[in-house]
Amino acid sequence: MLQHPDGPLLSLRGVAKVYGEGEARVHALDGIDLDIHAGELVAITGPSGSGKSTAMSILGLLDVPTEGAYTIEGVPVHELSSDVLAVLRNTRFGFVFQQFNLLARTSALENVAMPLVYAGVGARERARRATEALAAVGLAGREDARSNQLSGGQQQRVAIARSIVNRPEILLADEPTGNLDSKMGAEIMKLIQRLNVDQGITVLMVTHDAACAAYAPRQIDFRDGRIVGDTAGKSPVAGATA
Ligand code: ADP
Repeated sequence: MLQHPDGPLLSLRGVAKVYGEGEARVHALDGIDLDIHAGELVAITGPSGSGKSTAMSILGLLDVPTEGAYTIEGVPVHELSSDVLAVLRNTRFGFVFQQFNLLARTSALENVAMPLVYAGVGARERARRATEALAAVGLAGREDARSNQLSGGQQQRVAIARSIVNRPEILLADEPTGNLDSKMGAEIMKLIQRLNVDQGITVLMVTHDAACAAYAPRQIDFRDGRIVGDTAGKSPVAGATA
């Protein structure tokens, strides 16, 4: 579906999102223009309620704008059927959240392999790919560990392995270090940076934490549903050639 090889991977134009009606109307996004290129590592910052999660939901095809256009490689998302959107979401995007959302008494391997069950991948291939994903997050040898036997940082590693097991091009992470202390948070940021640089995964990450945002070559700042700062063009695009 690639239309412009040098064009943006993800593009928002005049994107607005309004929740509620009448007196209760909230402009969660108020006309956002944003281009994300393949290979970028972008931190999205801003105070609570500024629209970061809404923007991530739209970018991850979990929600739709009230106004404006979202295009993926030049293809307008609103022209795609819900079936095609579901396939795009499941094959091209990985999601990481503040909550690890792992099954507690289930092994790391089974947690990571879960998306492959839904994708209809056979058991042997599931195990192979889940083992590979666990190795990529530094958990080789911990395949049989149950989630409740792992530290918070290790649990987030398992969640990240699960998010990349489908080999997505784009990782959307919403406060991935929010439940971790600063040391574990730094380890998770180094891991995310490594996935970006070594595997060329495009990463968009929401964070409250300036120390985490500093790992990203590009930082976008939200206020009141608008982008009020964007360091794009001020530093080279990370991992663009990976
Ligand atoms: P952030 O992620 O920066 O904290 P959000 O995108 O979650 O901001 O929210 C932006 C604004 O939209 C807030 O005022 C929030 O209360 C409102 N909002 C978000 N989701 C909903 C929803 N489902 N219904 C009503 N209002 C919402």
